[in-house]
Amino acid sequence: MKLKHLKNIFHDDLDAIYGEDEVDSFFYMLIHDYFDVTKIQLAMDPTIAIDDPEKILESLSFLRDHVPIQYIIGETEFYGLPFKVNNHVLIPRPETEELVERVIKQTANNATIKILDIGTGSGCIAISLAKNLPNAKVYALDVSKKALEVAKQNAKLNAVDVEFVEADILKTKSIRDLKFDIIVSNPPYVREKEKVFMKPNVLENEPHLALFVKDNNPLLFYEAITSFAILNLTENGVLYFEINEYLGNDMIELLHDNNFKNIELKQDIFKKDRMIKGIKS
Ligand code: GLN
Repeated sequence: MKLKHLKNIFHDDLDAIYGEDEVDSFFYMLIHDYFDVTKIQLAMDPTIAIDDPEKILESLSFLRDHVPIQYIIGETEFYGLPFKVNNHVLIPRPETEELVERVIKQTANNATIKILDIGTGSGCIAISLAKNLPNAKVYALDVSKKALEVAKQNAKLNAVDVEFVEADILKTKSIRDLKFDIIVSNPPYVREKEKVFMKPNVLENEPHLALFVKDNNPLLFYEAITSFAILNLTENGVLYFEINEYLGNDMIELLHDNNFKNIELKQDIFKKDRMIKGIKS
């Protein structure tokens, strides 16, 4: 089958759901992944044909069912690095890149410090920090064995040394008596009532364990992590969170009530309250 013909099938099937441009980009990602053909190669030679369209047609049906392209391909990019992903981990978000950038910018490049990422998922935060802060010793915790399998694979893929810990932060008081200079976390923060605003690609495919909290207890993880941080941060250690855009003021209050100082709330590129940091006093 000619790739050109295949591309028309993609547009006929998917344009109504995703729009023409996004379908184009899905198609080029898939032909690159399956047939090692680039967009430029296809433009230069529209007669390129493939023998076995079965796999790519299966991907088409996944896309029709709103499966994210990152899960179909099994890989994505975060902070310029490759990350394997599957439906046991959230697909890394651009907002989280901003959090990582903030930590890197505010930390001396050669600092010999200990960093802990809580709820690491794919490992995107821990691994991009390890890559960019080469003298830091990075630890990453998650409750999900399946997520940790992905994160370990990603540490190897990016040639960094991260120590992974399987534990439930809601029940963890300390990690081998270690003290951390930085604790960072992007825990579940979407309230059940916000589900109505979410698209089916997220809602029907990404792990709910990593996304949702109850409407009546939205800061469950933030409270647990803040208590953990009081006991496990070094003096003047820094706590960084990604947060729910609607809960910025509640987060300021939480850190303030727990005697954190230099509290800074920051918006993401979409102008939503998205990050907060505080220093342990
Ligand atoms: N930002 C993610 C989303 O909107 C949620 C991440 C999280 O719950 N920690 O899907």
